[in-house]
Amino acid sequence: MFDRSRRRLTCWYTFSMGSILILFAFTVYQRQVTERMGEFDEQLYNRAKKIASATNYRQRGKTWQIDSDNLSSVDRDLTESNIIYLRWYDEKKHLLHYIGNSLQISQVSPGWQTLKLDRPNTEQFERLRILTLPLKYDRFLVGYLQVAVSLEPVEESLMRSRLFLAIGIPITLCFTGIAGWILAGYAMQPVRRSYEQLQRFTADASHELRAPVAAILSNAQVGLLAPSEDIEQPRQRLQNIVIQSKHMSALIANLLFLARHQGKLNPQDIARTDIAQLLNSLAQRYQTLADEKGLEFHADIPMVSKMIYCDRDLLQQAIHNLLDNAIKYTSSGGMVALKLTVKPRRLEIAVKDTGIGIPANDLPHIFDRFYRVDKARTRHGGFGLGLAISQQIIEAHKGKITVDSETGTGTTFLVCLPL
Ligand code: ATP
Ligand code: MG
Repeated sequence: MFDRSRRRLTCWYTFSMGSILILFAFTVYQRQVTERMGEFDEQLYNRAKKIASATNYRQRGKTWQIDSDNLSSVDRDLTESNIIYLRWYDEKKHLLHYIGNSLQISQVSPGWQTLKLDRPNTEQFERLRILTLPLKYDRFLVGYLQVAVSLEPVEESLMRSRLFLAIGIPITLCFTGIAGWILAGYAMQPVRRSYEQLQRFTADASHELRAPVAAILSNAQVGLLAPSEDIEQPRQRLQNIVIQSKHMSALIANLLFLARHQGKLNPQDIARTDIAQLLNSLAQRYQTLADEKGLEFHADIPMVSKMIYCDRDLLQQAIHNLLDNAIKYTSSGGMVALKLTVKPRRLEIAVKDTGIGIPANDLPHIFDRFYRVDKARTRHGGFGLGLAISQQIIEAHKGKITVDSETGTGTTFLVCLPL
């Protein structure tokens, strides 16, 4: 599935980049053609003007004759340049004199023409650029000068440009495709990670739900098999079913909680809350629980009230999960502390215990859903969702949660909330 998406992304990337590249190359080539032709025409025009100014016409009766004596320099010029022919016409477009090719292939009309000239004894042809200039004497039209030049030099240079583009574009497209493949790989990475996370989460959730369902089923079946006079055994089984159902209900509640409060907070639930008061009420509850377990409990919360905007219930849940862990993973005789520090731009809530601690290897994973240090849950129950829920809540409040722990010494969770 990911490979197919990656291939598709690469194709789209190459296609879009290739289209832009081809369009760009085409525009540049068109510009080059216009520029070269412009330069070429300008040169031809200047040369034609020079020849026209060197041409002398003599009037013989009513007609004009061309004076060919001073055209020897032009003749010399012709052999050195790529001029195919030069022709002089009278005002009635009758040919008076020519140098070079004598075949009549073009019309005598002032302006520019481009024509094909077949090369003798070959299948090939040559393209000619022809300029016809009207020659005037004292504002009277006395004839025409026609200059035909081979377009070969321009065509050769344009041919080289076309060849460069024909080789360059496919090579660039290949590189674009390779870059697209690499970039698509990078783009797919977070998607792949989220997909794998979701798959793991679904597998873990199904696994966790399967155990209580199996226990409920077996208890119900054994209870049903009990002899009718035995009242005690079905009662015992029903009690087990109640325990397992509660376990399952807690798990489902946690899963729903994670799904519902993903990402953003509900604006309607955000209110100005006195954080000191919120922590004091939690401290009172946990003082009793700590006493019951034979733990020392310290609450270090400043008396002054500190107001913040938060979802009160969610924040309470996040700190509750941390205190719950601190009590759960600290043996009797140990100590649990809750401390609030008000910094200029943030609040710090620390939950500290002197419990079993978390091994360094497990520390990077403890905020993952369903992650437990004690995988077999031999000593402590729990689904491994408490810290994931706390982290999700704190991050939704734009805060940060960090942990510092040492096995056998204790653990400190630090929650930083912006003010
Ligand atoms: P749940 O909170 O869902 O009932 P849980 O307590 O096992 O179950 P988390 O709260 O997410 O799950 O904690 C994940 C794991 O991190 C725990 O299983 C435990 O191994 C370890 N852990 C968390 N807090 C502490 C702590 N204060 N001291 C030692 N280990 C801890
Ligand atoms: Mg927990």
